[in-house]
Amino acid sequence: MSARKKQLKKHRILVRIISLGCPKNFVDTEQAAADLLIHGCGLTDSEEEADVLFINTCAFLQSAREEAETQIRSALLWKQEKKGRLVVVSGCLVNWDKSGAFRDGLPEVDAWLPTHETSMLGSVIQRLLSPESVRCIGHAASPDPARLPLTPSHYAWLRIADGCDNRCTYCLIPSIRGGLRSRPEKAILEEAGNLVGSGVRELLVIAQDTSAYGRDLSKDGTPRLAKLLRKLDKLPQGDDYLIRLLYLHPASVTDELLDVMEEMRHLVRCVEMPIQHVSGPVLKRMNRHIDEAGLRRVVSNLKERGFAVRTTFMTGFPGETEEDFRKLAAFAEEVRFERFGVFSWSEEPGTAAAAMKKKVPEEERERRRGILMAIQKKNSRALNRKWLGKICEVIVDEVFPGRREAAGRTLLDIPEIDNSVTVTGLPANRIRRGGIVPGDRIRIRVDRAGIYGITGSWTEGKQQTSETTEKA
Ligand code: SF4
Repeated sequence: MSARKKQLKKHRILVRIISLGCPKNFVDTEQAAADLLIHGCGLTDSEEEADVLFINTCAFLQSAREEAETQIRSALLWKQEKKGRLVVVSGCLVNWDKSGAFRDGLPEVDAWLPTHETSMLGSVIQRLLSPESVRCIGHAASPDPARLPLTPSHYAWLRIADGCDNRCTYCLIPSIRGGLRSRPEKAILEEAGNLVGSGVRELLVIAQDTSAYGRDLSKDGTPRLAKLLRKLDKLPQGDDYLIRLLYLHPASVTDELLDVMEEMRHLVRCVEMPIQHVSGPVLKRMNRHIDEAGLRRVVSNLKERGFAVRTTFMTGFPGETEEDFRKLAAFAEEVRFERFGVFSWSEEPGTAAAAMKKKVPEEERERRRGILMAIQKKNSRALNRKWLGKICEVIVDEVFPGRREAAGRTLLDIPEIDNSVTVTGLPANRIRRGGIVPGDRIRIRVDRAGIYGITGSWTEGKQQTSETTEKA
């Protein structure tokens, strides 16, 4: 009997998961985790006790592909240490590697799964361990596979679509994940209801472009995000939940959508909308489907309606002049975006931008990125300092009873990515009664403010505005 068969007989197969890339890719990982449980496997964080190392990869940028390769090579070293161990790789890197050349360079990997098969991880492992025991491996992945949320229990990603039709000239995603495929509204509402019903207090709505949701479902190509949001705002399974909207595309943010967002009871008044640039000629070459005037109109419209904006910018795109860049820096300074990140353009083979002329030298791309990051730091510190002495609402992510402290975020912050909040002086009686748990929204009086974080003591007092989070 083969070592692997003995193994299968001996104990429950344990899988260690390494999930790389964006939250959308993380949902694939959660679907893979559900399939593991369905096929009798278990999850472990320990490489020592694991039988299988599963790596769900990202390939969006050269740096992401390098990170994935490093992870795979270290997994293959781990595999050599003990007979019978398996390494399974899935995700965007497999889709990106259209010729198979990358995979041919790593023949020791036991299985490669393209993104649409990631949710079949459990059956793939069963097949690898005992080929004869899995008769029907040929079956296709379910269009809307089950999912085992792997985030802390008080928040969850809610993916509403996959793929993208926008074709920004610097982006590989459409060639990796394909065109826009919106999930049926019924499936999304059912999942959201189950999540809220199971105690999730924060739904983070994601897709490559959430504002394009439903375009592929409607005859005339009209997006259906507004309609979906209205229903997400009235989930019968509970009333104490937040909805956080990410990855809006400025070209698809309409007044109708903003009207619905403004009426919503559960929507956090901070949305994420990657902007990338503001200069007309650069936006055109990026194929962002919006010009400078349109972009400024959308941003001021959001602000006038009380929404904080979290965004990303890109520096050093081919043809970006010093004047274009100065305009971008001035825009970031004058609008004072509550949260923003900056990427310098990365030359990705296979994108239209990679073939463009007038490339900006790498060190100049980085110099410009550094200038914008300095503005971001100044902005973030100034906005945090506005809370000093005031009462701020905080989402609790973790409680430390022994220290009567908690870690959390303001309503502007996305879990695991943005600014942090340290809460001191939690009332011992409330902690003892389990009265403060992750997901709770509490208030603190802010007494310290740094660049990427604030600290404050727990208070019963009412929330005071700091001009940024008018309504939440
Ligand atoms: S909107 Fe543009 S940047 Fe975003 S996934 Fe689509 S093509 Fe890529």
